[in-house]
Amino acid sequence: MSRNLLLISTSTTHGTGYLEHAEEEVKALLDGKSSVLFIPYARPGGISHNDYTAKVKEALEPWGFKVTGIHEHESPVKAVQEAEAIFIGGGNTFQLLKNLYASKIIEPIQERVKKGMPYMGTSAGTNVAGKSIGTTNDMPIVHVKSFDALQLVPFNINPHYLDPIEGSTHMGETRETRIAEFHHLNRQPVVGLREGSMLRIKGDRIELKGPHSARIFLQSEKPMEFKAGDDIGFLLEAY
Ligand code: ASP
Repeated sequence: MSRNLLLISTSTTHGTGYLEHAEEEVKALLDGKSSVLFIPYARPGGISHNDYTAKVKEALEPWGFKVTGIHEHESPVKAVQEAEAIFIGGGNTFQLLKNLYASKIIEPIQERVKKGMPYMGTSAGTNVAGKSIGTTNDMPIVHVKSFDALQLVPFNINPHYLDPIEGSTHMGETRETRIAEFHHLNRQPVVGLREGSMLRIKGDRIELKGPHSARIFLQSEKPMEFKAGDDIGFLLEAY
């Protein structure tokens, strides 16, 4: 498979502008392309598709990439089929996946990605690249007919991964506990991607980028920490 993906935990890290922390990786992913199709379906905080797309244009156009929002195209399917590259932004993962199903672009995206079209996701856009959306942090604010996601990779992601705060008296579940619960009923690995982290997948190679290690959860095993440069190729094996 000639996958070419960049799965980013968050679009904005503390103290940097939109996508700024990922500039180098975004440019490497889009090398040789001149345009990007943006999918604003997750609509964070009710921002309009136009306003969300304008924000992406502001970030990507100075780097030399022309951006159009999928809503500006008459046919979403045709827009995907003709795109040079796709970027799915963050927001509510349930709302996003519902809209991906409604606009019938799940299969077209899968087909294009299989053939090497660059795909970039941030947060919810990273969640939907996984096997299912079962490890999102979001609330199910809309009903989605299936939790099956784009399955561009055979594992799940938990973006904005948070470590337990030492000494905290908070009684709610930690992220780690919630992922352990997920693994009682689901088999695929889960990658906890901390803020500023991203996964770069090129063909059969996968690399962790960014300043932090990632916490990787396998069913019935103790969580493991991997840092940039470590071999995490096992994640791409089918589960
Ligand atoms: N709401 C997040 C985002 O897209 C996704 C998540 O936390 O699962 O920013």
